[in-house]
Amino acid sequence: MIYFDNASTTTIDKRVLKTYETLLSTYFANPSGNHALSRDVDRLQDKARTEILKSFNYQHGKVIFTSSATEANNLALIGLFLTYKSRGNEIIISNYEHPSVFEAAKYLEKVHNAKINYLPINNDGTYDLEVLKNLLTNNTVIVSLMAVNNEIGTVNSFHEIKEILKDYPKVFLHSDITQAVGKISLDYSLFDAFSFSAHKIHGLKGSGALVLKEKLNPTPLLYGGMQENGTRAGTSNAPTNIVLAQTIRLALSEADSNFNHVLKLATKLHELLLNESDYFVLNSTLDNPYIVNFSLINHKASVVLNALENDEIYVGTTSSCSAKLHEASRSVFALTGDEKRAHNAIRISFSSQNTLQEVETFFNTLLKIIKGAKDE
Ligand code: PMP
Repeated sequence: MIYFDNASTTTIDKRVLKTYETLLSTYFANPSGNHALSRDVDRLQDKARTEILKSFNYQHGKVIFTSSATEANNLALIGLFLTYKSRGNEIIISNYEHPSVFEAAKYLEKVHNAKINYLPINNDGTYDLEVLKNLLTNNTVIVSLMAVNNEIGTVNSFHEIKEILKDYPKVFLHSDITQAVGKISLDYSLFDAFSFSAHKIHGLKGSGALVLKEKLNPTPLLYGGMQENGTRAGTSNAPTNIVLAQTIRLALSEADSNFNHVLKLATKLHELLLNESDYFVLNSTLDNPYIVNFSLINHKASVVLNALENDEIYVGTTSSCSAKLHEASRSVFALTGDEKRAHNAIRISFSSQNTLQEVETFFNTLLKIIKGAKDE
């Protein structure tokens, strides 16, 4: 089997699994209880928060554990908008944000009278910062921009964005860093809030967090008990939350060596694709080697995907959250304006566990499929 869909989810790191198993059986108590077993779990969970902030080198921050990056993004957009809406009703997001940001903003537009301003991207996939300057107004409450795009892998730099925002000190800068953690180095201190999940970095599924400035209080999405300081009711998933700290520590400490390995794979794949330019066109660059996105010039991505699957090779097309809707890649469309190219995009996403041999086997199989298939 060759698994090249790591932007969708990853396999679990054995070290994380081992810790999790111990936590599950030893620290099973409810951290909100008022006996010694609970207090021990609560202490460990709070220690994990401190460790997470330290890993990100994020000062004056707090961690709200969530079930996913989706929940963290929803809490950031909806929660912050509802708490701070007296400041204005405008939100800026880009036109290639993940559905969990895009649809949360749409919800605010429909139900809470928000005005969404969409930031377009340049033809290299980065944000058009000249337009950002024009979109900001005194009514802007939140700017939410992803650090690394999940479909075409674009890496965005936030120093200039932060500079532009200096004229609007009340605006919150939130970033969805789900595809950046452990892959691309970031200055997290630039953000007022950021979201991510564990399963993209060899952690547990059903685990994520919103990290934000201590003074910010998003309106809860769930009501009930006082867990997460009243921001997220429901019995804490303590073992999962505790092991998130280790997941992040490992991902960040091994980021450089993993990057160098994955860069070799992506460089090889780029070379192979560029040599067959009658069949393939690239939609991504080597700035982020974890994602190689290309479109088939004369073939349907869905057909090729099925054929690859027969050889136990698993790749992606669009974001998994859009794949079930059979949508074209929104990011490739935002980048190229070409609907056919967006429909026939294939996303290869690597992890440190992939090998050069797998890249070669994948490419040879792909070429065989393309050359043996009828044109679209
Ligand atoms: N943001 C980005 C950029 C993603 O790639 C994903 C996963 N497709 C998410 C958010 C959602 O993550 P989760 O699966 O943890 O909800």
